[in-house]
Amino acid sequence: MKTFVGYARDAQLRHDATSGGVGSALLNCLFKNGQIETSLTFDFNPSTLRYSPRLIHRWNDYRPTGSIYQDMDLIGYLRAHLGEIRGRFACFCLPCQAASIRILLKDAGHDSILFGLVCSSQQTFAATERLLDLAKIRRADVGTLQYRGGGWPGGIRIGLKNGEEKFITNNGSIWTDIFHSRLCMPKRCLYCQNTFNDHADIALADPWLPEYLGRETPGLTFVVSHTPVGDRLLSAATDECVFEAVPEETVFRSQRRTLDRKAGYATHPWRRTVLNRMRAWKWYVRLVFSNPRWLKFHRKILSRCKL
Ligand SMILES: Cc1cc2nc3c(=O)[nH]c(=O)nc-3n(C[C@H](O)[C@H](O)[C@H](O)COP(=O)(O)OP(=O)(O)OC[C@H]3O[C@@H](n4cnc5c(N)ncnc54)[C@H](O)[C@@H]3O)c2cc1C
Ligand code: SF4
Repeated sequence: MKTFVGYARDAQLRHDATSGGVGSALLNCLFKNGQIETSLTFDFNPSTLRYSPRLIHRWNDYRPTGSIYQDMDLIGYLRAHLGEIRGRFACFCLPCQAASIRILLKDAGHDSILFGLVCSSQQTFAATERLLDLAKIRRADVGTLQYRGGGWPGGIRIGLKNGEEKFITNNGSIWTDIFHSRLCMPKRCLYCQNTFNDHADIALADPWLPEYLGRETPGLTFVVSHTPVGDRLLSAATDECVFEAVPEETVFRSQRRTLDRKAGYATHPWRRTVLNRMRAWKWYVRLVFSNPRWLKFHRKILSRCKL
C-alpha cells in the first residue's frame, strides 16, 4: 500500500467536497486526459429526499455531492444502464460494492478505475428520517440536503424551501449520535471486515486524527493506492492535487476505532447478536429515537459493552 495525505488544488472543489476533494479532482484528471469516457454522479430529489446515481460522459456534468449517507443500489443501477456505458469507466464506491462493479463492467467489456471510499458503515434512509424528526424539520420543507462538504469536517446542510439553511455538524451532534447508534445501518455492515476498500484502485478517507482535527479546516484526504493503475493515476494528477507521503501506520491509526469494532464483531459474535436483538425490538428503536437524551443513553450502552 502507498499512502498519502493530499488535497485538490481547486479551492472551490476542495471546499465543496467531503474531505480534501482528492476524489473529485482525480476524476477530473481522468476525464481531462481522455482516460475515461463514462462515470457516475448523484442527484438529490427533494420530493423523495433521496439521492440517485446518474451516468455522465464529461466532467462538467459531475456534482461534488460529498459523502452520501443513504444506502443506494449502485450495482442494480449500473446493471440496468450497462448499454449506456462507453469506453473506460470510473466511479466511487463502497468496499462492499467494488468487486461486483469491477466484474460487472469487465463482463460487459469495459475497463474500470475504482475510487473506493473507506467505510465504517452506511446508513439506511431511516437515519435521514430520524434526523429530520429530531431536528424538527418537516420533510415537505426540505429543498436541498447535503451530508458533507463546506469545509472539513463539515456537516449536514439542509436548505429549506423558504431559503433558510440548517447546519448540523459532523462531530458531536445529533447526527453523530444517529450515525453511531448502529440502529440505522444496513445489517450487512455488522458482518463487514473490508474497511480500506481492498478491491478498489485507490481508497479515500477522512483524516480522523487529533493532529488534523481542528487544524485543517479547508480539508485533507488520506489516499491509499492499492494497484499499479492507482499509482500511475496519482503520479499523473500533480496538476490537480497536492500529495505528501505519510506512513501507512498514520492512515491505519485514523480508522483504528472502526477496525477494532469490526474485528470485535468477528471475535465476539455475541456483540452482533445483541445489536441484532436491539435493532429488532421496535419498541426499543422507537424509544431511542423519541428523544436526544435516550439516544445518548443508548450510545453509552454501546460504548460500555463495546458494541
Ligand atoms: C457511507 C460512507 C462511509 C464512510 N466511512 C468513512 C470512514 O469510516 N472513515 C473515513 O475516513 N472515510 C469514510 N468515508 C469516506 C469519506 O467520507 C470521503 O468520501 C473520503 O474522504 C473522500 O473524500 P474526498 O473529499 O477526497 O472525495 P470527494 O471529492 O468528496 O468525492 C467523493 C465522491 O464520492 C461519491 N459518493 C459519495 N457518497 C457515495 C456513496 N454512498 N456511494 C458511492 N459514491 C459516493 C460522490 O460522487 C462524491 O462526490 C465514508 C464515505 C461514505 C459514503
Ligand atoms: S461497512 Fe462494509 S458492508 Fe457496510 S456499507 Fe461499508 S463496506 Fe458496505
